[in-house]
Amino acid sequence: MFDVLLLNADYSPVRVLDWQRAVCMLLDDKVMRVADYNGRHIRSASLTLPWPAVITLRRYSKHRGRLRFNRTNLLARDAYTCQYCGYAPRNAKGQPIRTNLTMDHVVPRALSSGGQVTLPWNGKKVPVSSWENLTTACRSCNQRKAARLPEQARMTLRALPRRPSNYEGVRLMFTRRDVPEEWKDFLPVAA
Ligand SMILES: [Zn+2]
Repeated sequence: MFDVLLLNADYSPVRVLDWQRAVCMLLDDKVMRVADYNGRHIRSASLTLPWPAVITLRRYSKHRGRLRFNRTNLLARDAYTCQYCGYAPRNAKGQPIRTNLTMDHVVPRALSSGGQVTLPWNGKKVPVSSWENLTTACRSCNQRKAARLPEQARMTLRALPRRPSNYEGVRLMFTRRDVPEEWKDFLPVAA
């Protein structure tokens, strides 16, 4: 409830914080208030302040704003769609059914050495489990492909897996939540 949008010093969105964390950063003077929730206040024994809606870092941080690498974000990158057959399981409300989707190592673990695999399409070495070697697959495609390269299994990827850009990362972060009015001016895409 009444989360706070953190922006980098260039006003690019970084992530969403709970208000407690945001207040700590304000009190430490690491951030500035950009927009408040109209008419709302945070009150404690020692202070009352307007409830921040959007805050910005005083100093630019290049490490912030990277989309975390995990299953949720990976599924979102692939629009909850099997990247081999295009199956996109949805419930009656049109929401994705995540349990019907799996993570497929495009270059199988069996072909890794020292925890890394070489991507056949660009020769790059990447960790077995990384943005660039994991893709979304339905159960049947995952089983069919098994521990083979897509080519060996005669399967074609709809898109090569890759790390989302910061811009895409931000877009993905906000497709899964309600966006308060106060944030909209600061997000790249109308949510
Ligand atoms: Zn499939």
